[in-house]
Amino acid sequence: MTPLKLTMQGISSLNDNTVNIRFKVESDEPMEVIAGQFLRLHFTQNDGFETFRSYSIASIFEAEKTTMDELDIAVSWVAGGLATEKLSSMQVGENMEATGPYGRFCLLPDRHERYFLIATGTGVTPYRAMLKEIEIRLQQGSEFYVVMGAQDESGLLYETDFVALEQAYDGFHYIPCLSRKQRDEAGPNDQSGYVQDYLAQYEFNPENDIAYLCGNPDMVDDAFALLKEKGMPVPQIKREKYISPPAKKK
Ligand SMILES: Cc1cc2nc3c(=O)[nH]c(=O)nc-3n(C[C@H](O)[C@H](O)[C@H](O)COP(=O)(O)OP(=O)(O)OC[C@H]3O[C@@H](n4cnc5c(N)ncnc54)[C@H](O)[C@@H]3O)c2cc1C
Repeated sequence: MTPLKLTMQGISSLNDNTVNIRFKVESDEPMEVIAGQFLRLHFTQNDGFETFRSYSIASIFEAEKTTMDELDIAVSWVAGGLATEKLSSMQVGENMEATGPYGRFCLLPDRHERYFLIATGTGVTPYRAMLKEIEIRLQQGSEFYVVMGAQDESGLLYETDFVALEQAYDGFHYIPCLSRKQRDEAGPNDQSGYVQDYLAQYEFNPENDIAYLCGNPDMVDDAFALLKEKGMPVPQIKREKYISPPAKKK
């Protein structure tokens, strides 16, 4: 696969620890991508080994499948992290290589009655990418629950996009689950605790429901176990864990 060339267009803060980075994409062929997919950004370890880190495309897609020459990613900084070090010192106009798009964390062609899109942190970005397709499925009668876990309000990334859809459609529900600090002025659906605490109240219908889990690996494992225990068939629980590949060693 010929690498894509990404040129940084801009970087903006989403909160104290998270940024939105916009890249221009140049590729031999137009880059065709499905909402929910990710790219692998290429980095060189300090010992010279080539490696990568994966980032979901955070842009709101014009259609579920589209071509892109510009895209956003959301990056949470990790102390001492390789990608963190490189991306945080990158300047507008600098470029880097990437490959992709990859991944099957996408809405399936068959429409379900109820969608539970569950995330922590930057794990919400695939759902932001899907917003236009979500709107189409809402118009066809589906119901969506975006269940977003964060420690406090600052972690509710891209919240305005989800709130806007909630205001437009009765069938769209945006549920912030705040585990450490509640807002001074709580939102209408704010919950205290983890996403799993919120999900525990549901009875799932194995015929018509589907769930997506994205972000912190512990959340993905715990919520997966809960959904399975509550009767959700495993093929209807889609998972994407935000982890780094093991360091390459000599
Ligand atoms: C499919 C996929 C999609 C992803 N999408 C995104 C995305 O959209 N946005 C995003 O920010 N990340 C995303 N990730 C995670 C991302 O690829 C990196 O793992 C992350 O950015 C950390 O990389 P780093 O090089 O800065 O830190 P690393 O050099 O990988 O890690 C440095 C140290 O910190 C630890 N560490 C790594 N991550 C964390 C963490 N979250 N919290 C605490 N300690 C940690 C490591 O174990 C290691 O000890 C995704 C991962 C996958 C597999």
